[in-house]
Amino acid sequence: MYPISEKPHESCGVFGIYAPGAQVARLAFFALYALQHRGQESAGIVTSDGRAAHIHKAVGLVSQVFTEENLHHLRGHLAIGHNRYSTTGSTRLRNAQPYLIETALGPLGVAHNGNLTNAPALRRDLLNRGVGLTSSSDSEVITQMLAGVPGEAWENRISAFMRQAEGAYSLTILTRDAVYAVRDTWGFRPLCVGKLEDKGWVLASETCALATIGATFVRPLHPGEIVRLDQDGLTAWQTETGQQPSLCVFEYIYFARPDSILEGRSVHWVRRHLGARLAQEYPVEADMVIGVPDSATSHAIGYANASGIPYGEGLIKNRYIGRTFIQPDDQLRRLGVALKFNPLADIAGKRLIVVDDSIVRGNTSSPLVKLLRQAGAREVHMRVASPPIRHPCFMGVDMSTREELIAARLSVDDIARHLDVDSLGYLSLEGLEAVVGRGDGGHCMACFSGQYPVAADGGSGKQAFEPIPR
Ligand code: SF4
Repeated sequence: MYPISEKPHESCGVFGIYAPGAQVARLAFFALYALQHRGQESAGIVTSDGRAAHIHKAVGLVSQVFTEENLHHLRGHLAIGHNRYSTTGSTRLRNAQPYLIETALGPLGVAHNGNLTNAPALRRDLLNRGVGLTSSSDSEVITQMLAGVPGEAWENRISAFMRQAEGAYSLTILTRDAVYAVRDTWGFRPLCVGKLEDKGWVLASETCALATIGATFVRPLHPGEIVRLDQDGLTAWQTETGQQPSLCVFEYIYFARPDSILEGRSVHWVRRHLGARLAQEYPVEADMVIGVPDSATSHAIGYANASGIPYGEGLIKNRYIGRTFIQPDDQLRRLGVALKFNPLADIAGKRLIVVDDSIVRGNTSSPLVKLLRQAGAREVHMRVASPPIRHPCFMGVDMSTREELIAARLSVDDIARHLDVDSLGYLSLEGLEAVVGRGDGGHCMACFSGQYPVAADGGSGKQAFEPIPR
């Protein structure tokens, strides 16, 4: 099965809150709403009232999963939440998160964003030790590893887990009376801390979730950092990573919401500058710049401003179609694009520059170009605000094989012919680095460069465990 959208997808948004006196389940619900773009297949919240944990999770969008009634049952003053995008194609409830199990230290809830590159070995190890697993998810492996490590303090158990885990994980973890957050030692996925005035602390994949619930952004978690929220406030520990920080550059290009802040910059600002750089690298005479909505709007505005060619709306997106899955035959794929986008009459007779944020498989770009030509576009010049994706991702983004990547199989000229565009230009890797920062200076760009921060079968690196003074 292929989604209507051929965009890369990310595995999940996570949230955590410790706020006595606040309606934590309701705040988690609104935060998950704000993080819906990170995963639309299932959603869940676990709360604790200091005595017992309560859970509700189901397959579907946040608005479909939660009701007044089930939120009412999620009592407590601490909570974690999760939106899932499945990289395995499975939407089964048993893969929905957070996971909640009972351990020797009481309830343990885990919400995970990312992908462990050494999950098969860790999984085998658990099974060999007689630990039963109910799902195919590496997030369950994390949960069982945390439950099985000896030790009275959760932070020590988390540290022991981090010494074995390789790859991408931003976690929020609920225990009976504290919420923890953990970011892997490379920092592939974002995770940040916010403050609810006088009420408590929150954790979220993106700052947009903090703004939605009236929390103030405090800071991002550092790669390799563990944070605990409890009655004493916030306590943090830093593991010594010895690794190059490697925030996934696709957060800037596509995943994160434009109003989120990453590394001190708004994602919208970065996207505008990517678009501007693209205009410098691939100028062309045209009448109008349009973006593929909604994800390429900021890039298109940047391209238009830099080129002096007017920006306009050319495609209207049906925002309510969601991420419906369809059978991957060509006719239905074309129908998928028609269901999702409608061209505006304004484009008739115009030479268009169509800016997209990325092309992964190319299976929706081509019907999109056809749609624009049928609507009367005289010329269609495709501009892509990221370099060609020639290498698979092993860190939790659903482009894990070379075969599915159009740019791994075809040259740029061949892709242009395949898409039936008048011209095609991709942002260069140098252009991406000029805007975002260098690949070896804090960002993963492996799907463009082939330079992986961690091997597919897990890298090395043992972390020392040092508390950060409060
Ligand atoms: S390979 Fe690409 S998609 Fe995967 S983490 Fe690195 S930058 Fe992100």
